[in-house]
Amino acid sequence: MAMNRIQFQRGLSMPEFFQQFGTEAQCEAALEATRWPEGFRCPHCGGAAHCVVQSRGRQLYQCNACRHQSSLIAGTVFQGTKLALTVWFLAIYLISQAKTGLSALALKRQLGVSYPTAWLIHHKLMQAMLDREQHYVLEGQIQVDDAYLGGERSGGKAGRGSENKVPFVAALSMSDEGHPLRTKLTPVAGFSLKAIAQWASANLAPSSTVLCDGLACFSAVAEAGCVYQPTIVAGRKPKDLPEFEWINTVLGNLKTSLNGAYHAFDFRKYAHRYLAAFAYRFNRRFNLRTLHKRLLIAAANCGPHSERIIRMADVGC
Ligand SMILES: [Zn+2]
Repeated sequence: MAMNRIQFQRGLSMPEFFQQFGTEAQCEAALEATRWPEGFRCPHCGGAAHCVVQSRGRQLYQCNACRHQSSLIAGTVFQGTKLALTVWFLAIYLISQAKTGLSALALKRQLGVSYPTAWLIHHKLMQAMLDREQHYVLEGQIQVDDAYLGGERSGGKAGRGSENKVPFVAALSMSDEGHPLRTKLTPVAGFSLKAIAQWASANLAPSSTVLCDGLACFSAVAEAGCVYQPTIVAGRKPKDLPEFEWINTVLGNLKTSLNGAYHAFDFRKYAHRYLAAFAYRFNRRFNLRTLHKRLLIAAANCGPHSERIIRMADVGC
């Protein structure tokens, strides 16, 4: 597997990170530039003329036209936080540079915050990644596979119909040359025709070609205008087929990531967020050096979520 190009790319070193984002003023300037790349715009009237006032250690932007005051963090994933932005930025850096994901426990240790705070930071940032991933559909040649989260073999196949598992569809779009492009890992109600038809219409572009190992439910992708192309496995395990080399690699990497970084979590409630965080990182695997900036953009554009909402399953951003 020619993965060296990914593994040996230059990331952002810790000294470089602290040089750029080591102070609150640097983080504020970076967030301001991310939120308003063309300069501040009043969220109330759209006016550009403003002044900056300080209130309780935070910058407030006061519109000259309508006097509306908005804070730098209002309307972002950071809304309502009592933490310094330097803590959030360090979390963004650590999460974006960790190859196989980072647990809330590791974040707690590295940020010097309590476990509940680290958990919330982690889930809010994963929610921002999920929101980003939901903007994309897969198109062209797409390998798909049925997989499960939960139990001893999390991330891999645990046998169709197993109980106490979260079923999800693993999908991977391929270039004409056979190279992997983007992945989507989506929890589904089950591997029924109805569930797969719904999944396909939400996640695949019409006229895509869906390559799978012949599991009958995937024929329902035709309802979303896709071409169903099964490979009949006839006694061979799908993982042994060269056609499915890349989707199996993705599932193997997912398993390594989940086993190494997370151990166990509430699969039924949070599977969608962990899967999207894995896909987010995979889909930007060639951009390690700028991943923290991309995640900052996602965090600045993902709406605010209260802790109560984050603790509920399946939040839309
Ligand atoms: Zn205004």
